[in-house]
Amino acid sequence: MKIVAVVVAAGSGQRAGGGLPKQFRPLGDRPVLAHTLDRVAACPGLGRIALVLGAGQEALFHSHVRPHLSDALAATIRLVKGGADRGASVRAGLDALVPDAPTHVLIHDGARPCLGPDLLARLCMALDGGARGAAPALPVTDALWYGQDGKVADSRPRGGLWRAQTPQAFAFADIRDAHRAAGAAGQSPADDVEVARGAGIDVTIVEGDEDNLKITRPEDFARAARVLADRAGSPGKDRAVVDVRTGTGFDVHAFGPGDHAMLCGIAVPHERGLAGHSDADVGLHALTDALLGALAEGDIGQWFPPSDPRWKGASSDIFLRAAAERARERGFAITHLDVTLICERPKIGPHSAAMRARIAEITGLSPDRVSVKATTTERLGFAGREEGIAALASATLVAGA
Ligand code: MG
Repeated sequence: MKIVAVVVAAGSGQRAGGGLPKQFRPLGDRPVLAHTLDRVAACPGLGRIALVLGAGQEALFHSHVRPHLSDALAATIRLVKGGADRGASVRAGLDALVPDAPTHVLIHDGARPCLGPDLLARLCMALDGGARGAAPALPVTDALWYGQDGKVADSRPRGGLWRAQTPQAFAFADIRDAHRAAGAAGQSPADDVEVARGAGIDVTIVEGDEDNLKITRPEDFARAARVLADRAGSPGKDRAVVDVRTGTGFDVHAFGPGDHAMLCGIAVPHERGLAGHSDADVGLHALTDALLGALAEGDIGQWFPPSDPRWKGASSDIFLRAAAERARERGFAITHLDVTLICERPKIGPHSAAMRARIAEITGLSPDRVSVKATTTERLGFAGREEGIAALASATLVAGA
């Protein structure tokens, strides 16, 4: 069995709210579509993925999704321009996969990011067993009504009714021929199972997954995030989505004229100050770099260039606050910050509690998640000669916490 996938993500996603189409909006640490592609790629033996995007969405893919994909996954993806309707989009995706000579194909909605490995396994088992088509579904358990003018006009029997999900899986040549025929006949079917059945292909129902939801409305984002977080926390189910990161930072500033040194947001009285473009707070600079490092988003110099007059004499809490906000924007909780100040003098101990409180305040953490400590270098090196102060920091971030 040589299996490939078509992921249909060409929609503009108006119902889900927000400015971006829903497949590009963040869900935890990554956009919806990055989750979906990862989940599809978890199908054992999967080859090429045709990703069908709407007009103008290729740039969004490169800016929002590609940075979150491994190089190995990105190498399997072929971007395909969608058509006027869903049927045309799937046809374009299938056509793009012909050179890979696949035997089977999974056709999946880009807006179903919570696809789990168990469901993929059930589909593959059905194909292995010789099914020409297989699709997941869940039996309807709620009562069904027909409504008119806001009132129940009738109730309908639910026996034998199923709620369809994706991926829907088919023998490749069968579904490609079926889609071509449907397109030629000008049909606009609801899904690929309808296309297959129209061509006389039997489709086996496999057990769906209640968690394999399709993001449609704004509240679906929170539900999908819960599903992904639950899965991350349950051993053996899907550990791949646990994203815990540690970033490190280091900074040095030389002593210059002054009567205090800004250290971790506190003005510490001293016979000299620290020299620098901003207030030269080595502690906050190292922490800012630790956060940016955990996010893999460059460093403090790139975010706040010393050449920019806006940062001249700036209070460094601005930098740390911006990095903490960026972490939250990216869907990370900051779980711990640790900074070590390296100097002979001034003595840090008497100020460390105030420093922890100040860092906690700037970053929105509780002080028990902030550590400030100090060491000397036994009078060795620039710190030992009291030419300047160094700071070393680490930050721990957890996605979707
Ligand atoms: Mg600095």
